[in-house]
Amino acid sequence: MALVNENFLKLKQNYLFAEVAKRADAFKAAHPDKKVISLGIGDVTRPLPQACIEAMHKAVDDMSRPETFKGYGPYRGYDFLCDEIAKNDYKARGVDISTEEIFVSDGAKSDTGNIGDIFSKDNIVAITDPVYPVYMDTNIMEGREIKIIPCGEQSNFAPIPPDFHADLIYLCSPNNPTGSVIKKDLMKAWVDYAIKNEAIILFDAAYERFITEDDVPHSIFEIEGAKSCAIEFRSFSKTAGFTGTRCGYTVVPKGLMAKTADGQKTDLNAMWYRRQSTKYNGTSYIIQRGAAAVYTEEGQKQINESISYYLENARIIREGLSAAGIECSGGINAPYIWVKCPDGMTSWEMFDKLLNETAVVGTPGSGFGEMGEGYFRLTSFGSREDTIEAVERIKNNF
Ligand code: PLP
Repeated sequence: MALVNENFLKLKQNYLFAEVAKRADAFKAAHPDKKVISLGIGDVTRPLPQACIEAMHKAVDDMSRPETFKGYGPYRGYDFLCDEIAKNDYKARGVDISTEEIFVSDGAKSDTGNIGDIFSKDNIVAITDPVYPVYMDTNIMEGREIKIIPCGEQSNFAPIPPDFHADLIYLCSPNNPTGSVIKKDLMKAWVDYAIKNEAIILFDAAYERFITEDDVPHSIFEIEGAKSCAIEFRSFSKTAGFTGTRCGYTVVPKGLMAKTADGQKTDLNAMWYRRQSTKYNGTSYIIQRGAAAVYTEEGQKQINESISYYLENARIIREGLSAAGIECSGGINAPYIWVKCPDGMTSWEMFDKLLNETAVVGTPGSGFGEMGEGYFRLTSFGSREDTIEAVERIKNNF
């Protein structure tokens, strides 16, 4: 009989969202007259920018004519998209990233999950807690030793470089679930740590577009030396509403090196190219045309409108909860508000109280790691009306 990868059996069952849905459904069944509002969703709700829609319609027409039809695309992504990424997301911020360093994909979940393919199982991995679960689960699947970097109140939920050694470090700023950020000085400390430890930082910037403060780097490559120790992941999901459309990209700098067990240096850009060209056949032409339209004047205007809408929701939640005497953070450079459960409640006690007394659904922080216990995540992806109503209900109840 075939043998399974037993590492899969070590994964914790992720009951979080299933349990949230189960309790919310039971409440709805018992109180059919009450309107339940979800501030738990981690998915966008506003439609795609019109500029992207128009570009995709045009791309569909391209597929209908022999002279413009596209079959398999370049493994790295079309130049029309990579050039826009290099110019707008990097050169415009003073960062020199070339088209050959960009790999277009179907999103940051795949890339953050797949990047482990090019690294040895013998690496020690550092992962923050609380955390976006993909980093943790994919490393458990691959059987690596994992060390935890606790991100608590003392550091405003930001990760501080540890005094232990790690070979691979996952960082996420702006952060899901805490909405915290890694500011410039701290990012520099991480780059110094990585260089000293000959480690690679796997930097997830999926929420980059939500940054509003000046001292928060949009890319780790804004920090000197980062091109010798970091890989960056970006996504059009939260930037431009592509969660269902699927497009993201990863930057692996040319000359970024790791070594073989016998000390031979190996180029990671070439390895990632080899990995992608073997296991991935490219993001569809139509979707890449849609993503490229994000960088047009109209596209920029339209995505800014959506991001502002979500950030205004975040402000309403943050200020409303604070007015009710509930401690919270995040929501300034991120769509997530990290709420401290009042009166020493656990995350699930808070969930039940909110649901039963206000018919508002959020996400228990304990679902994102042990350090999340006693916290609660609210998101700003709902409608304005629902957000205002939910906050009013909470204010009246606490
Ligand atoms: N990274 C983080 C931190 C996320 O929170 C998410 C989605 O929620 C992703 C990556 C996944 O992004 P994508 O939709 O591009 O796969």
